[in-house]
Amino acid sequence: MNIHEYQAKEIFRTHGIPIPPGGVATTPAEAEALARRYASTVVVKAQVHAGGRGKAGGVKLAKTPEETRDIAAKILGMHIKGLTVHKVLVTPAADIATEAYVGIIVDRASKRAVFMVSPAGGIDIEEVAAKTPDKIMRLPVDPVYGLLPFQALQMGLFLYADIKQARAAAKIMQQLYAAFWASGASLAEINPLVTTPSGDVVALDAKMVIDDNELDRRPELALLRDETAEDPAEVRAREAGLTFIKLDGNVGCVVNGAGLAMATMDLVKYYGGEPANFLDIGGSSNPDKVVAALQIITSDPHVRAILFNIFGGITRTDDVANGIVTATKASPLRVPIVIRLTGTNEEVAVKILQEHGFSAMTEMDAAVQRAVELATAGARA
Ligand code: GDP
Ligand code: MN
Repeated sequence: MNIHEYQAKEIFRTHGIPIPPGGVATTPAEAEALARRYASTVVVKAQVHAGGRGKAGGVKLAKTPEETRDIAAKILGMHIKGLTVHKVLVTPAADIATEAYVGIIVDRASKRAVFMVSPAGGIDIEEVAAKTPDKIMRLPVDPVYGLLPFQALQMGLFLYADIKQARAAAKIMQQLYAAFWASGASLAEINPLVTTPSGDVVALDAKMVIDDNELDRRPELALLRDETAEDPAEVRAREAGLTFIKLDGNVGCVVNGAGLAMATMDLVKYYGGEPANFLDIGGSSNPDKVVAALQIITSDPHVRAILFNIFGGITRTDDVANGIVTATKASPLRVPIVIRLTGTNEEVAVKILQEHGFSAMTEMDAAVQRAVELATAGARA
């Protein structure tokens, strides 16, 4: 689960990380009122689940409350990487001497939380990694010991020659690790971590991703979810109990089981197609899930063909067939559908589908090939 900068900053603050004060506004008037409270130049920052807001025009300085109102009016409603801005953070502007990067991610290879720090902050860390990899220091953290003081200081000294600043940064890294650990995060990031002309070390941006699997035992974090900031299809899928990830292709996939879904996507690619999504309807036999899945997939305008790939074990293929019939009765499909099902109640399923004018296949290879052909033809038309 992504959370907003202002929410991540609140979490970081409770762990002691120095962060300028700030308030959230949903209207230009509210933004103006916040600027009056701070009585200084402020930064108006778009609150969306996307990086690179600065480059996209979503982070702007405002010298007066009136200017804050005008800038907030421009940023609210703006689209950044396909997401609409509904909120802005208004915060007193800091004077910046240097910008560094400090982040923690979960690294599957080392099975550890890994720190990545760089004195070349502010910009995309991916760019630093590609062009000047020696400017990044990586440090895997042992989950039993946590981040040890000497390790934090080592990273602090990689960022700053000044020992006071290195110590301040080291302290911030330990606080960041504590915030990351306490929140069940898969990512925690400060970019930029700045020094001011007077020598202070301050976090000006905050990003945090919470592992979805942690939310059941951390209800206070689950409350931070902002559905207005999420992809509507992913919100619907979550409500319907489906595992759904939107992708860029045009073959809409409905599959049962994560493994089969991965294999299906591999095969779509193998035959020259591109999946429009990952969608796992799970192991249950619930026609409602099939209905929800079809609605989500057909609402994606890029989808040119739909591929069902169902292996009936616990899942009864006749339930899936009934779901397809119900869903397409409610809203007829505008793109071709290829259905492959095999396993439990296969004969019944095929009969149901045929009675309603669908054909059903049993071979996975042939079905995937057919779906890719149809999608390609549809994309050309
Ligand atoms: P991002 O582009 O989405 O990562 O948004 P950031 O919060 O990192 O802001 C982008 C850039 O705006 C930063 O790298 C800074 O250069 C600049 N910026 C952000 N906050 C301030 C501030 O308080 N004062 C000044 N002078 N610049 C800021
Ligand atoms: Mn940033």
